[in-house]
Amino acid sequence: MAQESEIEAYRKVGKILAEIRETIRPMVKPGESILRIAETAESLIRERGVKPAFPCNVSVNDIAAHYTPPADADTVIQEGDLVKVDIGAHLDGYIADTAFSVATDQEGELLVQTVEKALQAATEVVKPGVDIGEIGRAVEETATAAGLKPIRNLTGHSLARWTLHAGLSIPNIRGETGQKLQVGDVIALEPFVTSGAGYVEDKREILIYRYLHDRPVRLRMTRELLRDIKRTYNGLPFAERWLAKRMSKLRLKLTLKELVEVGALWPYHVLAERSGKKVAQAENTIIVTEEGCEVTTE
Ligand code: MN
Ligand code: MN
Repeated sequence: MAQESEIEAYRKVGKILAEIRETIRPMVKPGESILRIAETAESLIRERGVKPAFPCNVSVNDIAAHYTPPADADTVIQEGDLVKVDIGAHLDGYIADTAFSVATDQEGELLVQTVEKALQAATEVVKPGVDIGEIGRAVEETATAAGLKPIRNLTGHSLARWTLHAGLSIPNIRGETGQKLQVGDVIALEPFVTSGAGYVEDKREILIYRYLHDRPVRLRMTRELLRDIKRTYNGLPFAERWLAKRMSKLRLKLTLKELVEVGALWPYHVLAERSGKKVAQAENTIIVTEEGCEVTTE
């Protein structure tokens, strides 16, 4: 639960991130490079005196989450693509997390409009004492009414200082959980809707990691990489791309793989919709207040 002094930090970083989101939005169109979108978002975050809370995700079509372009990505947005941009910033560990989707055709447009409606409906439910399953109900009912499905195995989450997922998972489907919101809770609501199966699955690819534990490793280079990751990101997710200048791509992949195998790093596998259908996402960070809630990233 956030104290009043912490609430100010959440508000400040939320406002900055919302402005950056609106600066980035017009970039997201056919012909634009997804790497340029991610790097522009992350540069704007740093220019405003805050830091990325995680790598900028730019996920296209059936890719739902955990995709950030690698340093050598040459993917360009095509006509017909549905693009999700998910950005996060932190001020001294206090996090803002927001996402939007852009459609380039009619099918995608329905998904984008529906997911925005779902986020709106979910936000209206938020107040102290509410079972978080009611948020899921609002998302599911909005998706179903449009003939779509929510992604059942992706959730929103509570936030805490230096912690992106602070323990509470906020469902995108109905059901009583017994977990109730309290004044001072800081949460990210992030509905995902699809015309597909409504489930995501892990792909093999990993582009994002986070520090977990110190572990003994044989090579000095590996030890130094782990030390710098721990110091620089302080447990928040980071991109392989952010380390691309340290060593060759192959060596970096192998080093990160070793650090995952020994339990030093957590790997975020790219998540794709099971049936290969498009996915749309919308997200805001919200503080639960006496009266209901306050959106920090509006
Ligand atoms: Mn997010
Ligand atoms: Mn989130």
